[in-house]
Amino acid sequence: MTAILIDGKKLAEKVRSRLKSEIKSLKKAPKLTVILVGDDPASKIYVKNKQKYALEIGIKSEVIKLDKDIKEEKLLKIIKKLNKDKKVNGILVQLPLPKHIDEFKVINAISSEKDVDGFTVFNKGLLAIGKQNFVPCTPLGIMEMLRAYKVDVVGKVVVVVGRSNIVGKPMAQLLLNNDATVVQCHSKTKNLSDITSKADIVISAVGKKNLISEKYIKDKAVIIDVAMIHDEKNKKWFGDVNFDKVSKKAGLITPVPGGVGPMTIAMLLKNTVSAYKKQNRK
Ligand code: NAP
Repeated sequence: MTAILIDGKKLAEKVRSRLKSEIKSLKKAPKLTVILVGDDPASKIYVKNKQKYALEIGIKSEVIKLDKDIKEEKLLKIIKKLNKDKKVNGILVQLPLPKHIDEFKVINAISSEKDVDGFTVFNKGLLAIGKQNFVPCTPLGIMEMLRAYKVDVVGKVVVVVGRSNIVGKPMAQLLLNNDATVVQCHSKTKNLSDITSKADIVISAVGKKNLISEKYIKDKAVIIDVAMIHDEKNKKWFGDVNFDKVSKKAGLITPVPGGVGPMTIAMLLKNTVSAYKKQNRK
């Protein structure tokens, strides 16, 4: 491996430690409420980790566990109540929701002032017009990683592979707001490698093991792998990038696990502290 490893785990520890000191100086502890509907095993693990790190740095964390058959109306009522609750600073609904529930309606029931995931249309709209409020945690964490490793995005060609509403799109918008030259690719993109191999920075958020090989990148490019693919047989996590091969050619690269993942949670905690501060400024 010749590339420099972007250590997301270490960076996330630093962010959490900074937040921990900041929380000590606040009048009260910020509070994050997470709603978990049903018993999806992956969702349970994600929620458990979010709660663990929140508690560790002094954020009050409450998890509301709801039955998978809960009526949409009842869920909306719970969110409305949390919106009004002055003790709650951040609200997060763990996705995906069961099929009978309208995800769009539920997410947009969250007050934009407590939307620490940055998923409401209001906060996404602000990001799209370059006036950021709460930005989705994964793209936010990636920007922080690039800054920490002194990767200047201004004028650089950045290819974002993937256009989901939670990662790809907000990532491209955030980069554009920071003066990068952004190309967005997706499943209908033709000749992907021709495009990615011209990029100074490639950010891949697809979910396909080994999609990005060494032929897809140029020498010394910065490679950010967002994907998290669990290989059940070998009990191992993989990303989109063929790490062994690409790390011999890239300038900087994130590992999976230990790259983007820990930074995503750290940014959720950061957004919660920022929600507390915004709500207590008035
Ligand atoms: P998603 O909603 O499934 O979106 C995947 C995107 O990849 C889509 O835009 C799709 O294009 C595109 N795509 C599919 N096949 C492609 C191909 N062959 N070439 C180019 N683009 C292709 O997934 P997501 O929620 O954005 O998540 C992506 C990955 O990141 C997953 O592995 C997920 O687990 C991981 N993730 C990690 C974190 C973290 O904290 N580390 C956070 C969120 C997600 P179309 O739009 O045309 O279908």
